[in-house]
Amino acid sequence: MSYINSVLGPIDSADLGFTLMHEHVLVAASGLSKSYPDLLGPDREARAIATLKRAKAQGIDTLLDATTFDLGRDPELLQTVAAGAGINLINVTGWWLDVPRFMLGVGANQMADEFIRDLNEGFRGTTVKAGMLKCAADAEGVTPALETMARAVARAHVQTGVPIMVHSYPAGQVARRQIEIFREEGVDLTRVKIDHSNDTTDIEYLEWILAQGCFLGLDRYPGRLVSPHSRTVTLKRLMDLGYGERLCPSHDCICLHIHNEQADGSIPPEHDFMRSNPDQYLYMHRHVIPELMAMGATDADIHMLFVDNPRRLFEGR
Ligand SMILES: [Zn+2]
Repeated sequence: MSYINSVLGPIDSADLGFTLMHEHVLVAASGLSKSYPDLLGPDREARAIATLKRAKAQGIDTLLDATTFDLGRDPELLQTVAAGAGINLINVTGWWLDVPRFMLGVGANQMADEFIRDLNEGFRGTTVKAGMLKCAADAEGVTPALETMARAVARAHVQTGVPIMVHSYPAGQVARRQIEIFREEGVDLTRVKIDHSNDTTDIEYLEWILAQGCFLGLDRYPGRLVSPHSRTVTLKRLMDLGYGERLCPSHDCICLHIHNEQADGSIPPEHDFMRSNPDQYLYMHRHVIPELMAMGATDADIHMLFVDNPRRLFEGR
């Protein structure tokens, strides 16, 4: 048992329940939800609450909200939505890919101190504390600015014991460099989850990551580039190879996003991301779990993936 900061206060790791380990209520840019909220469409809080109420009604107890500062984190919105929907939301600190130019000289120790304050004291001006760490690199690899953030997140982990989720880019095998940085920083790799790992079907690469001790976030559904079916085949294959206890399937779903103006000047009532996944947080229950069961997975396997694995990543055993 250990305590995890949810946006509404500490929860016992034993009470996480059915957990999706990489989702987003809101994705925008830092400050956007306060300064230009109408870009996110109408009735934002009510829409998010209704969507998460449907998730809760399906049996989803907890969502890991992977929205960092640079992805537009709005802690008070998360509090309102978690309370309104009766669901646990755990928000991250750390950094995604957008490092603004005026921050390019910032140091890893400086940022580690800030992230640790997010974990221990809360996001400034709010009562919300972060419950997990996150860093990122994508097709461009670990750039100098992203390396600073990765080392800051690693140092915050070493000082606090809070686990790390890692936005990665499997097509470029970027986790090889991210894990190398974590090793240099003394990170416990069994407390690290390498995300977006189902954007590849390269089992050999995924087994290399697992051999380092990390969890895999198989957290893009329905996703692009790789078909949902291929994602589930890869998931089942990794389970059959004996890695089931370190796999965390999720959607990387976004509930509130910019509603882009169309060529004809109209603004659609739903954002692009919603149109690509109308099932939103229920895609797993409606499509992935039934397909996994048809492939031979058991109820105990489903419990392992969505209840036991998130709990063990947080507890560190
Ligand atoms: Zn994400």
